[in-house]
Amino acid sequence: MATILIVDDQPDNLYVLERLLKGKGYQVLQAENGPAALQIATSQQPDLILLDVMMPEMDGFEVVQRLRDDGGTRLIPVVLLTANAPDERLKIQGLKLGADEYLTQPINNNELLARVQALLRTKQAQDELQARNVQLTALLDIVQTSTSTLDLAEVGQRLVRGAVSATQMEIGGLWLTHDNKLVCLAQEGYTPTVVQAWERITLSEHPIGVRVLQGRESIYGSTSVLFGADSPVAGEVHQAIVLPLVHRDTPLGVLHLGTRRQHTPSADELTFLRAIANAAAVAVQNARLFEETDRQRQDLERLDHEKDEFISIISHELKNPLASIKGYAGLLQRRSKKDQSLQAALKGLEVIEQQVNRMTTLLDHLRDVSQIGMDRFVIDAAPVDIAELTQRVAFEMQTTSTNHQIQIDVHDEPLIAEADEFRMSQVLSNLIGNAIKYSPGGGAIDIVVRKSSAPPSRPADIPPGEFAVITVRDYGMGIPPEGRDRLFQRFFRASNAQGRISGMGLGLYITREIVQRHGGYIWLDSNEGEGSLFGVAIPLLREAAPVDSQVERPAGTTSVAESTS
Ligand code: ADP
Repeated sequence: MATILIVDDQPDNLYVLERLLKGKGYQVLQAENGPAALQIATSQQPDLILLDVMMPEMDGFEVVQRLRDDGGTRLIPVVLLTANAPDERLKIQGLKLGADEYLTQPINNNELLARVQALLRTKQAQDELQARNVQLTALLDIVQTSTSTLDLAEVGQRLVRGAVSATQMEIGGLWLTHDNKLVCLAQEGYTPTVVQAWERITLSEHPIGVRVLQGRESIYGSTSVLFGADSPVAGEVHQAIVLPLVHRDTPLGVLHLGTRRQHTPSADELTFLRAIANAAAVAVQNARLFEETDRQRQDLERLDHEKDEFISIISHELKNPLASIKGYAGLLQRRSKKDQSLQAALKGLEVIEQQVNRMTTLLDHLRDVSQIGMDRFVIDAAPVDIAELTQRVAFEMQTTSTNHQIQIDVHDEPLIAEADEFRMSQVLSNLIGNAIKYSPGGGAIDIVVRKSSAPPSRPADIPPGEFAVITVRDYGMGIPPEGRDRLFQRFFRASNAQGRISGMGLGLYITREIVQRHGGYIWLDSNEGEGSLFGVAIPLLREAAPVDSQVERPAGTTSVAESTS
């Protein structure tokens, strides 16, 4: 029942009002002057105040004003009562100051009670709305905060704090099930006794396990019922509410709130708490899934790293015996050339050498890919003339095939770039090697080297500038359109190459990696059955290559074999 504070300096009046109100079941507080009324209003928060206007020291008008000025008492309804005859001016003054009613003599008891009831109803509705508002804000806050983080412990702490503050309970905790026991995810306000009592719970035997988790029931009541009358918890916390956390029909744990007050949750409060428990279940599940995924990702990364490490070691170790085989094959080749009786073995020794070279290249590719994977692939850059380097590599590559004629056309020279000479020669030999390999019928391979400030297909993330541009064109099998965009991925091979021409699909991946680490890019143009063009653009060193030192060559083609011989 509502509590009403009556304020009057006349004890007789207080007595009459008290009898009237108590007769209707209200609880009554009394004050004989304004300051006492203010003090009681602040400390006890009555639901309504009946206030005499005419009081010595501080009159009713001043009390109203002070009540309205104080955030803690601002919303308590006040009825001003006066023994004077009606005076419209005073009534308006009282209402303006914030009184809800102004009753004058003769005061009719029934009217007074009716007004009190009406004001209390309004106050109650207002209180409920406010409580709802607090709950909704808290719920929104909980949902927002718990979805904005995926750290399980932090999610738990935020949920508990939100639930405790929104319900005005003193303690709360989130407990997760683990092997027939409960493990605390987060708690607020627990004493060690409370923690221990919860940790001792064996779910299969305890009402929290049986009713809350298996039965999906929210339970509330005296702590002594939950933990036994002799439990030390019963002396600390009187009332407890325990709600299940269920996600897709799987019980994850419980939300617990406790208070030292005598408190029975209303239906609204339980609905609100269930909403929090549901939000908690989703948040906990999300955070768990994230942790699980994150753990798996870390495991995969570790495995991937171990694999790279393994490949790196293996490829290195296999190269030593290969080097020795190559050495002996070379020795035998030289002897065979001199010794007539060994001539028959010469062809076989050549094949051995070729195969050893192929295997060495494969192992180098494997090692490079593993180094890239482990982020140990280093570019050791210094000024390099790309035009001269291209000619050198083209010449070396010409020695590997008699079926192909490599033509090179250098328009500008020198083309100085800040580059790793070894890695750039790897790029060039990969591209020229592919041009040879994927035109199995032989034919021309045209290489063009030039300077350009507008090379084709420049991606948006490559800043403009001067580039050394090298294109390698072959007239071989070309590349089918499907899968062209995946050509630079690890282990990818075009459909027309698979099964016909051996390879691992690593060369272009490494090539692009090297080119990009030089601040450049690679592009491709191809027609299946007609051939392919691979282009590489590498930014030039700005201060290098003064204009007058450049040699502008007439457009024309030089055979690599001729120019270098
Ligand atoms: P590999 O040659 O060992 O397969 P690469 O990474 O060098 O690996 O090339 C990837 C794929 O790109 C090749 O398998 C082939 O399908 C295709 N490719 C590369 N260069 C050419 C080319 N010049 N002509 C036709 N296809 C090519």
